[in-house]
Amino acid sequence: MTAWLSRRLGDDCVAKLQSLGEQDLYCDDSKWLDLLQNHTEESLVILVADLMDDIRLAKIRTYHGCRVLDAGVYHREGLKRNDPSKLKSAVRQMVSTEAEFAPLRPHLEKRLAVFDAADDHEGTTRDEGRVHVGFDDQELLDHCGAYALYGSEWVCALLGPLGHGPLRHRGVPTILQIDLPASWLSAEEIEGVCRDMLQEWIHHAANRRDWTPWLATSFILRRDIPPKMVTSHYHPEVINDPLYRLTPRKSGAVVCPHCAPNS
Ligand SMILES: [Zn+2]
Repeated sequence: MTAWLSRRLGDDCVAKLQSLGEQDLYCDDSKWLDLLQNHTEESLVILVADLMDDIRLAKIRTYHGCRVLDAGVYHREGLKRNDPSKLKSAVRQMVSTEAEFAPLRPHLEKRLAVFDAADDHEGTTRDEGRVHVGFDDQELLDHCGAYALYGSEWVCALLGPLGHGPLRHRGVPTILQIDLPASWLSAEEIEGVCRDMLQEWIHHAANRRDWTPWLATSFILRRDIPPKMVTSHYHPEVINDPLYRLTPRKSGAVVCPHCAPNS
């Protein structure tokens, strides 16, 4: 970002911005961009537009949290859009065959019927045909850890509190790294990314923190992500559990058959 700004604004201007000194602004205050505007001759609108032009040709590193038996499936098959009918079949299979879910068996069909009726009544579609990715993996660990701890949000809600333990005992918490072509995003989403980048650059340049704020930015995609875009994955050791007041939980398993085939 510093190199890009130096090319656009000149080294002297960037050096001036870097010597502004600490500002009494919270990290996500939009006044950071006003500050950038006030200390450059370039219009912020043009600066954002030019950054958007360059970002459109780039890949954006994003993340997806999930709980899975073997993360290798994403490297082989990619990350598919949500299919509620497949998810329903999978939960029936899991509950009917895995011993830890046995106490839930008598109630499953009744619960499914209640959830189906609620969807029909409210016109909800359970995110059918969508896949979510986030801009910041730390957010998936600190504030949105349910995906890595419990897997599908819908399955977790369907099974209720009695399902929490069994869901946490199967598979491995996983964060997928997905290098997404920026061309997959809308102009509004790319503009948001560009403004976030500029805002964080000026925040860091002025206040020189040794930390980076987490970003809540996420993207909803309506197409399958092919295997070549799933560039890596990792298994976090500790995740804050949003279902239990964001209490940190140790993961237990931090390898899967893909990354440790002989373990
Ligand atoms: Zn793995």
